[in-house]
Amino acid sequence: KVVDSSREVAQEYVNRVFDTVKKRDPHELEFHQAIKEVFDSLVPVLARKPQYMNQGILERIVEPERIISFRVPWVDDHGKIKVNRGYRVQFSSAIGPYKGGLRFHPSVNSSIIKFLGFEQIFKNSLTGQPIGGGKGGSDFDPKGKSDGEIMRFTQSFMTELSKYIGPDLDVPAGDIGVGATEIGYMFGQYKKLKGGYEPGVLTGKSPGFGGSLARKEATGYGTVYFVEEMLKDKGLSFKGKNVIVSGTGNVSIYAMEKAMELGATIVSCSDSGGYVYDSEGINLDTVKRLKEVEKKRISEYVKEHPMAIYIEGCSGIWSIPCDIALPCATQNEIDGMAARMLVSNGVLAIGEGANMPSTLDAIHIFQKNNILFAPAKAANAGGVAVSALEMAQNSARIFWSFDEVDGKLQDIMKSIYQESKRAAMEYDAPENLVVGSNIAGFVKVADAMIMQGVI
Ligand code: GLU
Repeated sequence: KVVDSSREVAQEYVNRVFDTVKKRDPHELEFHQAIKEVFDSLVPVLARKPQYMNQGILERIVEPERIISFRVPWVDDHGKIKVNRGYRVQFSSAIGPYKGGLRFHPSVNSSIIKFLGFEQIFKNSLTGQPIGGGKGGSDFDPKGKSDGEIMRFTQSFMTELSKYIGPDLDVPAGDIGVGATEIGYMFGQYKKLKGGYEPGVLTGKSPGFGGSLARKEATGYGTVYFVEEMLKDKGLSFKGKNVIVSGTGNVSIYAMEKAMELGATIVSCSDSGGYVYDSEGINLDTVKRLKEVEKKRISEYVKEHPMAIYIEGCSGIWSIPCDIALPCATQNEIDGMAARMLVSNGVLAIGEGANMPSTLDAIHIFQKNNILFAPAKAANAGGVAVSALEMAQNSARIFWSFDEVDGKLQDIMKSIYQESKRAAMEYDAPENLVVGSNIAGFVKVADAMIMQGVI
């Protein structure tokens, strides 16, 4: 009875804070979605630990410490002036300097950056590293731009961003549309503006000038390490499984690589134009060359592998029968319909390499059908975890070997799995890693906020 009434109080509190957010920013649907998922998980914690309500933790945590939005003017190859909008959302510095990637994609707006920044708080906490949460980016579309245009845009972006970041303040990295090339240009511009060599201001740098080995591979490898751990608990593994990995970016490519190493066959991957299906197993060397070197569309794949087929449009990828699905492209790529299709085709496990790739509807469908589900905050935390290791190497002026970093990454992913599982158990939601990872990530941040006073 006592537990029930405290649950009711917690539920009312959560509803009230959620309503405030919706009223304040009514159009930010992705941001609402990310908050709803976390809040639903937190009710049992709030019921058991009313200090979080008394200290107004949720009211505080949904409001970014700072939102910066700025003009990014640049000149295209025809001498025409273009203007994009830049963002940096400094969400939470409770447990460390703001940390999170920059996304360059035409869909970027305040809702997208805020949902990503909000998730980053809990993801970063889960890594066990001392990093707060932030995110940034621009609605600039790198597709079809020349290298010169990308450099000029990126320099202009950093000219403004440089005023708000620093190795102990806010440390950006890459995300969709921002890889080692863009990070290199940004680092060059930052260095020129600041007049000092501060490698710890950005992560995802090339290993030749302060980057960490295994950073490029970290998100994809980490997702597979996490899913392997989840499978192992049920006496299963990647060996002999058919796997779909959506996307062909950094996360997807290295998730495919590690899953193949563990004995899986990748039957399909995609880009924003469509997907390829290769029953023989996707040839990763071809994908890497097309995407990383030649910057071509995945539709080109079938020219070299005539047994494979290419299908235009992205959502159809989830209708291919598979044992394991790793959504590694973008937010909301698996909706209710796609989830139902995966379930009826007998999928065993889902591992989220992208940020928020499943809608709330899709997650419920997976859970109702007892599909093993590795949520993004936990499963894709390997990227930012190795970013924190890059910061550590930069501060100490040391350079670890690939195996050293990869070994640490494996340990981190295993401990994120164990911690999420333990938290789920503690709060009576055994097997529910969504609940477990949200709680485990939240508690550390909330406790730090209480200890630091009302700031
Ligand atoms: N963008 C990545 C993420 O979503 C990595 C962020 C980072 O390394 O700071 O977590």
